[in-house]
Amino acid sequence: MAGTTTPFLAHTGEGSSDLAALRKATEQWHQADDPFTRLCRRLTTSLSLETLVAIFVEELAKLVPFDQMTYRHHIANQELVYATGMGGRHRCDYRLTLEGIKYGELTFRRKVPFAEEELKAIEQMLSVAILPIRNACEHAAVQQAALTDSLTQIPNKRALNESLERECHLGDRHDQGSTLLLCDLDRFKRINDNHGHVIGDHILRAAAAELGRATRNTDTVFRFGGEEFAVILPHADLAAGHHVAERIRDFIAKLTVNCGEENVKTTVSVGVAMRQKGETPEQWVARADEALYRAKDQGRNCTRVASSIPDQRRQRPAP
Ligand code: GH3
Ligand code: MG
Ligand code: MG
Repeated sequence: MAGTTTPFLAHTGEGSSDLAALRKATEQWHQADDPFTRLCRRLTTSLSLETLVAIFVEELAKLVPFDQMTYRHHIANQELVYATGMGGRHRCDYRLTLEGIKYGELTFRRKVPFAEEELKAIEQMLSVAILPIRNACEHAAVQQAALTDSLTQIPNKRALNESLERECHLGDRHDQGSTLLLCDLDRFKRINDNHGHVIGDHILRAAAAELGRATRNTDTVFRFGGEEFAVILPHADLAAGHHVAERIRDFIAKLTVNCGEENVKTTVSVGVAMRQKGETPEQWVARADEALYRAKDQGRNCTRVASSIPDQRRQRPAP
């Protein structure tokens, strides 16, 4: 029988010429050294916003020299600022938007004015960068959401675990002492029982804000779970930790939430533990928790500090 060509084989034949074209195009893509292709190629290598901005700035600087670049953007409630260089009295600003959504602001400064052609080049390069920047912003927003407590909008337990790991690592490498506070609102169940969960939630949000006000910018407040919060105080010893704990106690005691007919108030008990060298996050938290347990046991609305030796007897049911 005369040879017949099956559709499959015919297709394979066409495919191989497509594959050859693809191979050639890929080769060209990797070898091309024009600014446009180089930028496109490099922007596909990362999902980190900071890395993408750095790549963009590096590639742009080869075409349009500038003295300073600043990129600013808000993701959730976090402000991101990436900056390189210093000064220059001439500036050009770009608001990055795509389909009506903002993806940050870029400012370039330099000592001499920007020429028309240079501005055009910045815009052309931005038109390549905007999509990868948008993807990186969305990726950062998802990551941020995974580390944020939805009720209070402060970092959550997962973020706490990451920070504890980091503090332990830094502590052992640089001999940096940090202190952990565990803060548990007193008799919170009664507030829910007497005033309802909506008021309970409102107090949790207000308490988170008070903890933020009672601590410094370098300290971080986390929602540890339910009605419990944790604070990491970097470079702080036990005395400094105790001082901050008392300030938190004072701020929370002064907090008043109006719920119609009556004002609702609450108090907090705090356990304080300074990290010991070599201690794991779990051991550190266990000592702070033991101090918190004593604060509860000894009347609530007070602060207790952890001893340096782990207390094997502690035994409050896990939250
Ligand atoms: P203690 O002084 O011993 O800490 O007493 P407590 O009542 O605060 O502690 P308990 O562990 O018995 O109860 C904690 C309460 O916190 C019970 C729970 O319903 C409430 N809670 C936990 N998470 C939330 C929340 O997200 N919203 C509200 N409204 N309540 C919460
Ligand atoms: Mg509790
Ligand atoms: Mg409680």
